[in-house]
Amino acid sequence: MTPRVDVADLVAKARDGQPRAVARLISLIEDASPRLREVAAALAPFAGRAQVIGLTGPPGVGKSTSTSALVAALRRAGKRVGVLAVDPSSPFSGGALLGDRIRMQEHALDPGVYIRSMATRGHLGGLAWATPQALRVLDAAGCDVVLVETVGVGQSEVEVVSLADTTLVLLAPGMGDGVQVAKAGILEVADIFVVNKADRDGTEQTVRDLKYMISLGRREVPGPIWRPPIVKTVASRGEGIDDVLAAIAEHHDWMSTHGELEQRRQRRAEAEVEAIAVEQLRERLGDIRDQHRGSALPLLAKRVAAGKLDPYVAADELVTALGRNGHETH
Ligand code: GDP
Repeated sequence: MTPRVDVADLVAKARDGQPRAVARLISLIEDASPRLREVAAALAPFAGRAQVIGLTGPPGVGKSTSTSALVAALRRAGKRVGVLAVDPSSPFSGGALLGDRIRMQEHALDPGVYIRSMATRGHLGGLAWATPQALRVLDAAGCDVVLVETVGVGQSEVEVVSLADTTLVLLAPGMGDGVQVAKAGILEVADIFVVNKADRDGTEQTVRDLKYMISLGRREVPGPIWRPPIVKTVASRGEGIDDVLAAIAEHHDWMSTHGELEQRRQRRAEAEVEAIAVEQLRERLGDIRDQHRGSALPLLAKRVAAGKLDPYVAADELVTALGRNGHETH
């Protein structure tokens, strides 16, 4: 959008921990700026230091309250913290949502905390494309811990938090029978379950239900396995937050011991590379011309819509043309 962006300068300022530079870099990601290639090159040497913690759960369960309480506890431990609140559907750009996030405001003036909400604004690559790149920015900006919080429990959100080093799944008593949770596939991605609002009736029942659901989904696999603990919290009073941090530390140690941390980070990089590659392919598909130099995809689509061509053959044509173009240009 702004051709005059000085990427090297922005990256240097972000590395220096300047919030405005970090914000600018994340905006470039939201806008799918063509300058991102330079940004990525400049950031690459500084990645891989932050511990990434994902946090997901149904709306209203207490995610932002918990995030805020975790930030407070991490700050007491002297850590620099980044918070990335991802919202795949929000039409608002950088930080607009934060005005609503009252519970985060206690950290707003703390220079050791960087809070940012990120919308992907219908960008085709979506969260899988944007989130790992935003993580890199926060990582390079010197955050010791980055909390990735999702707004809901849609499938793409669950996928994104599952790429964290440790994924927290929040539940609360009285939030139905867990069907919504089970459906979204969040039981499988949990490294730690947090039953928040433990000040409410029905907490023990929720814990029992959860244990039962976990036992149903459990498969015996060879080798060491991590059994997700269940931690009870009252996030609004900061209770149980130290237990959550202790569980995170235990999980981190377990992963380090079993080589799992490296594997997860590799999977995260894999997802990032794949999302970027898919975007590039999509663009190149759109660029393919037919022999009359018209755009090939709409022409093929016209024939498919009219029943003159089946979609598999049409797709084959495009993929073949892509291969040809690839050989010509590279
Ligand atoms: P999110 O939508 O998952 O981010 O949930 P919020 O953090 O916005 O919390 C939803 C509501 O639950 C707010 O009114 C919070 O004050 C309240 N809340 C959060 N944690 C607790 C808790 O431990 N106990 C009780 N009783 N209320 C809580």
